[in-house]
Amino acid sequence: ENGNGFGSLKTTCCYCGVGCGVVVHKDRNGKLSVEGDKDHPVNKGMLCSKGMNLHYTVMDKSDRLFYPEMRLNKSLQRQRVSWNEALDRTVSVFKTLIEKFGPESVAFYASGQCLTEEYYVLNKLVKGFIGSNNVDTNSRLCMSSAVAAYKMSLGEDSVPVCYDDIEHTDCIFVAGANPAWCHPIIWRRVEAAREKNPALKIIVSDPRKTQTASYANVHLQIKPGTDIVLHHAIGRVLIEAGDIDASFIKNHTEGFEAYSKKVMQRTVAEAAKICDVSEQSIREAATYIGSAKGFLTMWTMGLNQSAVGVNKNLSLINLNLITGYIGKPGSGPFSLTGQPNAMGGREVGGLANLLPAHRNLANEEDRKYVQAFWKSGAISAKPGYTATEMFDALHEGKLKAVWIMGTNPLVSLPDVRKAEEALKKAKFVVVQEASIKPETLKYADVVFPAATWAEKEGTMTNAERRITYLNKIVDAPGEALPDAEILCRFAQKMGFEGFDFKSFADIYKEHCALTKGTSIDINALSYDVLKAKRSVQWPINERGEGTQRLFTDKKFYTPSKRAIIHAVDDDNLSESTTKYLPLILTTGRIRDQWHTMTKTGKVSKLKQHIANAFLEIHPDDAAERSIAEGNLVEITNGRGTVRVKAKLSTEIKKGVVFLPMHWGKILNNDLNRANNLTNNLVDPISKEPDFKFSAVEVKGY
Ligand code: SF4
Repeated sequence: ENGNGFGSLKTTCCYCGVGCGVVVHKDRNGKLSVEGDKDHPVNKGMLCSKGMNLHYTVMDKSDRLFYPEMRLNKSLQRQRVSWNEALDRTVSVFKTLIEKFGPESVAFYASGQCLTEEYYVLNKLVKGFIGSNNVDTNSRLCMSSAVAAYKMSLGEDSVPVCYDDIEHTDCIFVAGANPAWCHPIIWRRVEAAREKNPALKIIVSDPRKTQTASYANVHLQIKPGTDIVLHHAIGRVLIEAGDIDASFIKNHTEGFEAYSKKVMQRTVAEAAKICDVSEQSIREAATYIGSAKGFLTMWTMGLNQSAVGVNKNLSLINLNLITGYIGKPGSGPFSLTGQPNAMGGREVGGLANLLPAHRNLANEEDRKYVQAFWKSGAISAKPGYTATEMFDALHEGKLKAVWIMGTNPLVSLPDVRKAEEALKKAKFVVVQEASIKPETLKYADVVFPAATWAEKEGTMTNAERRITYLNKIVDAPGEALPDAEILCRFAQKMGFEGFDFKSFADIYKEHCALTKGTSIDINALSYDVLKAKRSVQWPINERGEGTQRLFTDKKFYTPSKRAIIHAVDDDNLSESTTKYLPLILTTGRIRDQWHTMTKTGKVSKLKQHIANAFLEIHPDDAAERSIAEGNLVEITNGRGTVRVKAKLSTEIKKGVVFLPMHWGKILNNDLNRANNLTNNLVDPISKEPDFKFSAVEVKGY
């Protein structure tokens, strides 16, 4: 910036976990424009459609919350009040509830969009000072199965690879993901890598022939829920062909024998039948992996959002472990983070079962260390409510108050009508939010207007452990404040010490200091280092240099320093289809929208790709129900109904239907909302919901 309020500033895109560098230009009239940062190592100047339109979402203030609001009881309308009045009221209610019902009677539900500083302050506030672990985020709906699987197999929640590995590999297995639409800049790098090296083989497993699957050498169009069977079958072929790394297995892993026995329990032919793909295609995929010099596995929600999400993750990571394709260029397991800063949130321990810097909540020594560092009260050993548990606890009256921060659960939670009933029952609801759109505002007793992207500074970490600094570029509208500042003001009014930070840089410094000596050590990092270097991958040495790849020394973070191969069961624990609910509903994203569309939904250019919710259905399933292209159809089960137009496509597996997850209520009509139908099963370990498998029926309307 040139000091006159115009010029150019660098920042990072706030949508997905790819973490593209963005240059924002501000002209003399304050008008913004954006372009990809050519010097940024992630995107090298490229941006996807969402990133290219970021400036519209910042300049359009028509849907913004400008002032704090509150009401004194639920029969009244909320009124505009001062920050002090809104905060004092919240403090008074929280103090009363905590005194009467204990610290576990209040909870905070935040977002993978939050900056690391916001996560840090929130986590410190709840775990250190309120005295419960009732802080969870929408990352629970996104990456928690990957977090659990990394911990179980590699010892910690650590993505071992980097994006440059795409240019070093000759085989990529994309499992249950559509990066061509959902992580577009990563996919552009994959396409560029294959242009350079036509021998690069791509394997995709997905019940839908997505744009990613169309680009694959082998598309395994599996039946939903059969991923583990598929991964085990590939493992079996690799073992039988001798395409495994016996020395790596012997010296650096545990559990191979049990795994080998497990995968031999089904023949490849049986597995092919269960997955509903050809045996030949499984063998072909295994041959590509076996003959590669580098092998990357990539995955997102198709594996994570499942009642067996952790097992699906483990069974895929096993393929990297038995082949020794980890800790070297072009190889390793690579979870493609959904949200821009889900990783930053995990670093500060911002989930109900985590502690900062990958410390262990169950470990007394770790709890005491963090407690001493924060000079706080005792940290509870009991994990807090996870996202769906919070809403269940509200339903049951165990939880009295919830503070929702930068997320839109009445669109994004599974079995969302039940979640809405839960929010109606809450004694006290705080909504900290930038937009007037979230349905949660209807239930809010207090509203805190929040600053959003480009209106505040801070840091984020992308899917390859790369931390970047985000500049403040414009002022927030009205009286909106950065989330970290709102939380610090609240904490100070609660009488808690340790929240009188002078700047966001100070919050960051404290977070960095707490990582000292851990495997995610960034103690040498600061805003100054980040501004100078632009971005850096953790862990960081004392000279401020980052780490491109983990486990190059083949020493893992487990007690034995060996990676653990888990011989997981291949059962799917999702609900069953029935005679009356014979179709499997799977949900997901479309190319140009982000989450619940509070930002991307207001950019008309982004509606040109797909403007309305729709049901994708196979022509045979449609014909059985006398449904033609464009017909209005009703999708139902015991939980709810969705009514949208049918889009007939041979690219979806017969017996499976797809709804986009972005749409919520439109003028009080909730019939576009996919989560009316999704079930409330969760993975037993990660507690991540089973969004990708719900039994439904479809009929013409
Ligand atoms: Fe933003 Fe993700 Fe698109 Fe990059 S790929 S511009 S981070 S939405």
